[in-house]
Formats: sequence, C-alpha cells, structure tokens
Amino acid sequence: LSARYQQEVALPSQSACGKPFKLMVNCGLAIELETSNAEYTDGVGLYRTEFPFIMRNRFPTEQEQVELYRKVLNSYAGKGVVMRTLDVGGDKALPYFSIVEENPFLGWRGIRLTLDHPEIFLVQIRAMLKANINVDNLHILLPMISDLAEVDEAIRLIKQASFEVSDELNIALPKPKIGVMIEVPSIMYQLPELAARVDFCSVGTNDLTQYLLAVDRNNARVANLYDALHPSVLRALHRLAAEARQLQFPISICGELAGEPAGVLVLAAMGYSRFSMNNSNLAKIKWLLRRVNIAELEALLPEVLACQSPKQVKQQVQRFLEHKQ
Ligand code: PEP
Ligand code: MG
Repeated sequence: LSARYQQEVALPSQSACGKPFKLMVNCGLAIELETSNAEYTDGVGLYRTEFPFIMRNRFPTEQEQVELYRKVLNSYAGKGVVMRTLDVGGDKALPYFSIVEENPFLGWRGIRLTLDHPEIFLVQIRAMLKANINVDNLHILLPMISDLAEVDEAIRLIKQASFEVSDELNIALPKPKIGVMIEVPSIMYQLPELAARVDFCSVGTNDLTQYLLAVDRNNARVANLYDALHPSVLRALHRLAAEARQLQFPISICGELAGEPAGVLVLAAMGYSRFSMNNSNLAKIKWLLRRVNIAELEALLPEVLACQSPKQVKQQVQRFLEHKQ
C-alpha cells in the first residue's frame, strides 16, 4: 500500500477537482531532514526546536543554534520553514533545567517560560535571524499563547533581537513572518486581535484537544477520552476555519490530526488547505486528497458536525473512505 502512495508523491497536491493544498512536514531531528522528500513538500510547517535542547546537557550556544537552523532553512530554500520557539515544560523536560510543578501542562510551558527568561528567547531568535540572512524563508511560531500580552511581549523581543543582530553585523535583515500557535482554547476567541498583530496562525490539535477535553494527552488511564475527533473539538476547528477565512488570516494545521486520513478529510471539508504532518504520513495524505472532490467533502461536513460522539464521526468518515479505496 505504501508503495502505491509513494508512486504519487511527486504529483501535485490537489483534490480530484483541482483545489490546491499545501502539504508540509513536521520535523525537529536532523535525521528527518535527510529522510524527508523535501522536493515534494511545500516546506516545513513545524520545526520543533526543543529536540536539540533536550539532547544536550546544557543550553546550546547562539553559534550552535545558528548552524543548526541554517541547515534546516537551507534544506528548504525557496520554501517556507516555520520554526517554533522553545516549547519545553509540560511533558518535555530539559535535563539541565529542572521544573517541578503539580500540574505541568497547566504550568510553566512554552512561551510562558521563555518570556520569563528573555535571555533564552533572545539568543534563540538572534540565532534564527542570523541563519535566515541569505535564505530568507524563516517564519517564527510562538507556542502556548493564551493571552495577547504574551504576543505583544514576544514581538517586542523579536524586534529587539533583530535590532541587535542588524547592529552587530551592520546589515539590513530579511524580515521573518511571525505566527501564533492556536493550542490553548482562550486564544481561539481572540482571532481578530491576533490577526491584527501577526502574519499567520497554526492550529496545534494535539494540545487543543487536551485542553478542550481536559484530558492529559499522555495519561494512559484517560487515553480513551482523548480524541481529536470529539464533536466539540471538531466544532471548535470548524468555527476557527470560518473565522480565519473571514479575517483573511492565514491558518494551517500542524497537529497529528492533519496526518490522519479521517482527520485531514474532515479538516479539508471545513475549508482548511494547509496541513503539516510527519513525513511518514505525507504520501498517504497526498494520495487521499488527490481522490476527493470538494463538493463531496462539503456534503460530508454537516453529517460529521451532527455526530454526537467520536465513534459516530469515525463511522461516518469510514463510510466515505470505503468508496475511495
Ligand atoms: C500540538 O500541540 O498540536 C503541536 C503540534 O505541538 P506539540 O505536539 O509539539 O505540542
Ligand atoms: Mg503543542
């Protein structure tokens, strides 16, 4: 089956009726750059910078980060690369930076930690900006944003880092695009204010599901309750797509849902067209999207949104998929 998918990986990402999609990859490990079909994708939709931080026994220096980020940006020259600022805390611990909390997923995570330690944030942004000098494809993505003040403070620090690098090297820098992750429910209700501040947003369905359902994404005891196809999660995603469209605010999906056949179909039915996923899912998702018509997806959407359980959603989509095999 995977050979069948792979045969079409070089063909255009578009529906059977010709609607174009942007399919991008999620990565974070150097090896993924070597194993990804960079030429067949529309760039990197999520580069998780925390892996190089986790694999060391100290913070990587600015120069180490420059070299690493340069490799990633150069591997995708001519295409966008979305680099997320350090997203540790929650389940991701740094061996050399201890955080002890009762509720780590509701605690010092992502942007909260780096805004409290601007020196970590500034070094990372400076490194990204330096790596971007000749290639100019950098997009900066802010994780765990729950409040507009965090966005404003992050933008202020990015401007400061930009000023410092420009001053140090005595050159004008290419200006990166700035985006926000939609993964904390509160920020879903401030989309117009976000659109006025940043260039794009990217939905992290993994955390958004966890926080909407109040289910720890890594707790086996409640794993049966964790489901991104929960009708409430789908209604939230549907509302987001409609609002982003109305605001003409570029939106993409970078959570695991985009790499699952049922997930991507439902998302495409809602009008999403930019998906970022693990490279191992890319050929399959492209193969599937190339076989659907937008009209049939639009007909599927009300049926899916009327479902009352994740199980019903899956049955509904499964019925649709059976005709595609
Ligand atoms: C997400 O939360 O959906 C996401 C893409 O980020 P991560 O899985 O790294 O938290
Ligand atoms: Mg997340």
